[in-house]
Amino acid sequence: MDPIGLYIHIPYCLHKCGYCDFNSHPENAAEREVYVPTLIDEIRHYAPRLQGRRVGTIFFGGGTPTTLPAGDQIRILKACKRHFEVMDDAEITTEANPSTVETENLKCLRAAGINRLSVGVQSFDADELKALDRVHSVEEIHQTVERARTAGFDNLSLDLMFALPGQTRERWQDNLEQAIAKNPEHLSTYNLTIEPGTAFHKLHEAGQLTLPEDDFQLELYQYTIERLQQAGYDHYEISNFARPGRESRHNIIYWENGDTLGLGAGASSYLDGVRFKNFNTPAHYIDRVKTDGHAVQTEETLDARRAMGETLMLGLRLKRGVSIPKFERRFDVPFSRVYGPVLERLLKQDLILMQGDRLALSPRGLFLADSVILEFIE
Ligand code: SF4
Repeated sequence: MDPIGLYIHIPYCLHKCGYCDFNSHPENAAEREVYVPTLIDEIRHYAPRLQGRRVGTIFFGGGTPTTLPAGDQIRILKACKRHFEVMDDAEITTEANPSTVETENLKCLRAAGINRLSVGVQSFDADELKALDRVHSVEEIHQTVERARTAGFDNLSLDLMFALPGQTRERWQDNLEQAIAKNPEHLSTYNLTIEPGTAFHKLHEAGQLTLPEDDFQLELYQYTIERLQQAGYDHYEISNFARPGRESRHNIIYWENGDTLGLGAGASSYLDGVRFKNFNTPAHYIDRVKTDGHAVQTEETLDARRAMGETLMLGLRLKRGVSIPKFERRFDVPFSRVYGPVLERLLKQDLILMQGDRLALSPRGLFLADSVILEFIE
């Protein structure tokens, strides 16, 4: 069986960014004191269910996991290693925001086995950071990267956002150059989207925030691909770039629609064909784990057709695409019997291509990815 990915949600942030629709809540020291042991209880709860399964990746996400004292993250990691079969070479990532990390903390996390750091940079431009409602400065980004390297992190990912209101091509180019100059092993670049329920959504509705036109967004995206490839990064997923061998193994499990267990408030899981999700608010999550040992709020078993559609939807995000033989083994059905007509049509339109026995988006399909992928979903 393929190794599973473990996701651990730390829901606290110093401040809610205007665009954020993640499950993040203001820092709360008293609640945190209870949240961490609750997570460990939840880990203990799932130990029997994961018996015989190897854990290949662990990802601390949020929120901002580094709002926790390093000792708390280490306690959680130790509990994972005690109760689950974590592989010796597991990829163990923590997200970190500039302004929440000191060198000593990072050294402790690195010594405890966290071997990958994903830094939420978003922008190297002070005005853009302000417009995005981020609490950190450009200087703190530089410090964070320096501290991470000093602490021994040799697998560093930087998150950047483009297509911000009023962003010019030159400003985005400058952001990219600054990111490249940091020589990270991995880069994620996402265009800003306006999500319902966020502060940005209200501004957008009121006509006070305008995103760039689609054509301009596409131009920035195309430029990003060209420039990062030129700088030696492989464009291995729609929004992600990596030095050879430094792809996010954790996210690849998601994109391959593999088994994942999510722990913590609001975390989602996909295990043995069942998708389930925890209660969102930390207080609710804590209560439920206390009474039931877990905090699952919703659960659904995917039928084969839906699981196939999701496997394609996620797998086509990867440049290497989807292995047809693996797909057929997994679902025990010939691919062409299910998707023959749509396959033929998209191949004719040069939106997808076969690379050996793998199905992938074509260069043309990449820029129309959302609509191409939808063709496989009923
Ligand atoms: S730091 Fe990240 S998770 Fe926290 S509010 Fe900002 S965008 Fe959301």
